[in-house]
Amino acid sequence: MMLFLSALLGLSLGSFANVCIYRIPRKLSIVAPRSFCPNCQRSLAWYELVPILSFVLLKGRCRTCKSRISVQYPLVELTTGAFAVLLYFHFGATPKTLIAIALFILFLVIAVIDWTSLIIPNSLVIAGLLLGVIDYSFFSVHMLLSAALSAALASAFTFVARAAGNQIFKKDTMGIGDIKLAGLIGLFIGFEHFLVAVWLAAILGIIYWSIQRVLNRTAKDSRLPFGTFLSVTAIIIYLAPAPSISFIR
Ligand SMILES: [Zn+2]
Repeated sequence: MMLFLSALLGLSLGSFANVCIYRIPRKLSIVAPRSFCPNCQRSLAWYELVPILSFVLLKGRCRTCKSRISVQYPLVELTTGAFAVLLYFHFGATPKTLIAIALFILFLVIAVIDWTSLIIPNSLVIAGLLLGVIDYSFFSVHMLLSAALSAALASAFTFVARAAGNQIFKKDTMGIGDIKLAGLIGLFIGFEHFLVAVWLAAILGIIYWSIQRVLNRTAKDSRLPFGTFLSVTAIIIYLAPAPSISFIR
């Protein structure tokens, strides 16, 4: 029963994640109006908003204007649904599960937005900081302070890395958003693990860049969505059982 509920929660929050992914970079409200077709602007009925199912039944097209609905929608819902179940197995029926699901969705939204628009919205970083304070309120003030120190170190590290990168490559290697994201990640996984996340994200970035090179898709001024890679590796480290990452420390 709890398993079913967590899947349901994951799927519905996936729908909400899609709303955030579409609206936040466009500076639209995430609460009103109700969801609409991005092409013909028609408001969607409840049966067009059922996660995954609606996409399948509508065969991936808008009911009226027949324009294609991005496969990103059901993919995001499927990912959040699957992870909600996974997190329930991991943390059990505890508040930690809810926080981990919220954090997972936050990082997913940041990853997709940075991937598509190369920005990391401030509102999401602030939401993450609040979530961090809630998370640590289950522990002690001492832990919250050490987490805050980790956040500051992670931001400072990224600030220096960005300045050095800009000097070497004579262009913007990272955005200001990456510095804020680094702080958020440091808050949740600590500075040491943050460094591991950066290292893994750099490897992902190099792989991505190499594939783009092979496919001849690199524009001269192209920037890597580093925030996307960093969000992905951070959430993996956050969820990984401690022994599996201790070897890379
Ligand atoms: Zn339409």
